[in-house]
Amino acid sequence: MGLGTGRLPVSGPDDREGLEKSVQIVLRALEAGIDYVDVGHTYAAGMATRALQEAFRQTKRPFSVTAKIMYGQDKTADDARRRVEFYLRAMGLEKVRFFTCWTIWNYQNFERIMAKGGVYDGALRLKEEGLIDHICCSLHAPPEDILKILESGAFEGITISYSLLNAALMQPVLELAKEKDVGVAVMNPLGGGVIAQNRDYFSFACGDADDGDTVHAALRFVKAHPAVNMVLGGVSSLEELEDSLGVLSMPDPEPPAERMARVLRKSSELKGFCTGCKYCEGCPQGIPTAEIMRARNSLLFDPIKSYNREEPESLLRDIQLFRPLLHDHGWLPETSENPCVKCGKCEKSCTQKLRIIDGVEDTYQKTARAYFTRGARRTRLEELVHQKGYRAVGLYPSGGFTDLIMRLYNEFWGEPDFEWVLFNSDPKLWGMESDGKVVHGPSEIPELHPDLIIIDTFRFDNEIEKTLAQYRELGIKIEKLHREGEVPWVF
Ligand code: SF4
Ligand code: SF4
Repeated sequence: MGLGTGRLPVSGPDDREGLEKSVQIVLRALEAGIDYVDVGHTYAAGMATRALQEAFRQTKRPFSVTAKIMYGQDKTADDARRRVEFYLRAMGLEKVRFFTCWTIWNYQNFERIMAKGGVYDGALRLKEEGLIDHICCSLHAPPEDILKILESGAFEGITISYSLLNAALMQPVLELAKEKDVGVAVMNPLGGGVIAQNRDYFSFACGDADDGDTVHAALRFVKAHPAVNMVLGGVSSLEELEDSLGVLSMPDPEPPAERMARVLRKSSELKGFCTGCKYCEGCPQGIPTAEIMRARNSLLFDPIKSYNREEPESLLRDIQLFRPLLHDHGWLPETSENPCVKCGKCEKSCTQKLRIIDGVEDTYQKTARAYFTRGARRTRLEELVHQKGYRAVGLYPSGGFTDLIMRLYNEFWGEPDFEWVLFNSDPKLWGMESDGKVVHGPSEIPELHPDLIIIDTFRFDNEIEKTLAQYRELGIKIEKLHREGEVPWVF
């Protein structure tokens, strides 16, 4: 088991109690023999590195930890160095064992990472200097892209999502990783919470030795594959840690090979469940039927709270449906018009006898209510900023969404006739550059006085709107990027 720190129970810099609880969790994990800690600088409200710093100071137990280079923000060898130095400072360390190219979405991302003077070149230099030991990556790419990336031999280890949800699909990836002797860490072993919340549906994974505990059976299934070196357990309490340790650190009561065969066989018999086998591929209209039908598996389950949203149910379901389509397959249709000509080719090939034509139609209808089209994004930017006579437009906060917004604007209308100004509440970022622009603190808003500030994040847009409302008195417009019922522009 490796320790995932994304769910440590700390809510921000002022949460002393949460920080102390998080430190205790890390210390207990190291004491129990866990020696791999997976951390990202945004984890646990940006406080995971701080909790680790305090825990590492208090222990003599061995540990290894990740420094994650963020694709999209870190583009050059120098960016990679800056990011690693940031992690070293944040955790009070002189080196980290694992350099991780974080969240590679597809093969094109990989090629950019590998370009001359890019992040991978930076990693090689850091390795030569002894600041890192191993160059790894975490992948959200489609399996066929992961296979190509593995073939390249660039990485010593990979972190991938593997669970009952994508079990059949990921088998070739795991087999190749084993053949190439590439280390495998598994994230999302419970499908991002879906399995824990739908225990009845996934109870088929339970064998006689699992005492009817679907979560334990699901974790044991992931661990059973011989290519899997480590399963990352993200925990938010000591109780959860002990529970995960009990399953992942103990030998499986069922022979792992038998467990794998049993569960894979039963998962292919699930009614209405798309296995991702892709026999339906080759739509003459270019509709990614396999990807759509696999994403629609989420409609079989109860919706789960995500991105700080608990309701309405339709939004939660739309997030679950569209997230994998954009995230994993880059699918964002131009409009909500369904191009299917009902030729039936896909349905004839479906091994699960799924009603693909209806599924595709319903999915396109849902793109309209969730504003999940490129056209809807263009409309939104037009409403907000295009040809409004503005001098400056603020984006708050700087980070994941800003690059996309500026890029989309340029794609739609070319260079803007106003200036983008980036803001962030995190003092560590003030004065630093993001997407080629300086990041300002909120106290500079009156002086810089943009005509409009767009709250671009999805997760905390209501909270940020409350803190920015005071600037309306200065004549500054404050608008949220996302409309009612809209899914995040960046997942
Ligand atoms: S029925 Fe529609 S989705 Fe299926 S292959 Fe034909 S055009 Fe594509
Ligand atoms: S053939 Fe059927 S089960 Fe296989 S990917 Fe297509 S929709 Fe899913």
